[in-house]
Amino acid sequence: MDKVFALVDCNNFYASCERVFNPSIARRPVVVLSNNDGCVIARSNEAKALGIRMGQPLFECRDLVARHGVHVFSSNFELYGDLSRRVMETLSAFTPDMEVYSIDEAFLDLAGMPGDLTAYCRAMRARVKGWVGIPVSIGIGPSKTLAKAAAKAAKQDPACGGVFDIRGREEETLSGIEVDDVWGVGRRYARLLRRTGILSALDLRNAPDEWVRRHMTVTGMRTVMELRGVSCIPMDDAWQPRKSILCSRSFGRKVYLLEELEEAAAAYATRAAEKLRDQGSAASLVQVILMEFPFNDGFPATRICSGALGVATSYTPDLIRAAKALLGRIYHQGPAYRKVGVMLSGIVARGQVQLDLFRQGREGERELALMRSVDAVNRRWGRGSLEFAASGFRRPWWMRQTHRSARFTTSWKDLPRAKAS
Ligand SMILES: [Mg+2]
Repeated sequence: MDKVFALVDCNNFYASCERVFNPSIARRPVVVLSNNDGCVIARSNEAKALGIRMGQPLFECRDLVARHGVHVFSSNFELYGDLSRRVMETLSAFTPDMEVYSIDEAFLDLAGMPGDLTAYCRAMRARVKGWVGIPVSIGIGPSKTLAKAAAKAAKQDPACGGVFDIRGREEETLSGIEVDDVWGVGRRYARLLRRTGILSALDLRNAPDEWVRRHMTVTGMRTVMELRGVSCIPMDDAWQPRKSILCSRSFGRKVYLLEELEEAAAAYATRAAEKLRDQGSAASLVQVILMEFPFNDGFPATRICSGALGVATSYTPDLIRAAKALLGRIYHQGPAYRKVGVMLSGIVARGQVQLDLFRQGREGERELALMRSVDAVNRRWGRGSLEFAASGFRRPWWMRQTHRSARFTTSWKDLPRAKAS
């Protein structure tokens, strides 16, 4: 069966959220600010057209804001989290397999779907707009990377009504996309590619295999194959988005018990917190995603619950506590579950975290020092050397990995043994 993926991307998500309950600003320039009202973290198209940049400090664009009557909002993660939940839950009825990719993006597996997929995605788009009020762009392609590129094209060309199927139009579409904007091409590789004269997504698609393998390793080759329409990145396996951190895996077997789901959620919250600290940032919003096993004749239910944190944090115990509380709100006994995920959004640099003067911030010096020590031990002795008891020790829910080779280089247990005779 031919593979087909759709990537659904909410347009200017935070700005669109502000418009849902404030239709008078539908065509007005809108910006949303980071936690402490410092920088612009989202812009409507009108605000982009004025030249307001992503991440620009508010004081720098004060003049533009005043002159053009730009509507300025402090970030409201409680609202964004809940609208994200509604978008995702609406989408999940359209496919047997969906991967929430970030707060405002999801991949849908459309393989084997009968009929006209563009029409199907138009219906999806109309339902999200009607039920939730958020405009989305949808790209369709034979690989996740091409679906991403198609979504970009859908956004750029108003003539396609928000849905673009790249199949049969790969060359012309890829030639219009800069190589920096290809999914999975990081800043470092983008610089190398530009220096080499590989400027567009099409150039990268046509780059010689040997050059790609030598300079961009096997992951780069994966991207190039994906651009050629060969799907190499399965559902549930993705490059990390920049604006969210998501840790999620399908279980190795059906899971029914809340206790097991809690262990998994705690393990993913722990991992997500490590990534967060690794990049020197803190999160303002926690979301838990829970996916049921598909029934024989029906679609799986995806449920999402989100909670805004009063103060952005990267302190693992707080993130575990939040994830478990959210899970408890969406869990119900009965169905078999196949996946749980923990997503952190509203990510800000550590230095930008606004401390609450009247409430002792939980993440004080002591908490920071504790996390630094835990991270240092795990770096030195291998991941999982120091763990939080909440994530369990037996982990019966862990994904099946019966064919995995030993972790020769990262686990003392798996160290290859040499014998002299
Ligand atoms: Mg978006």
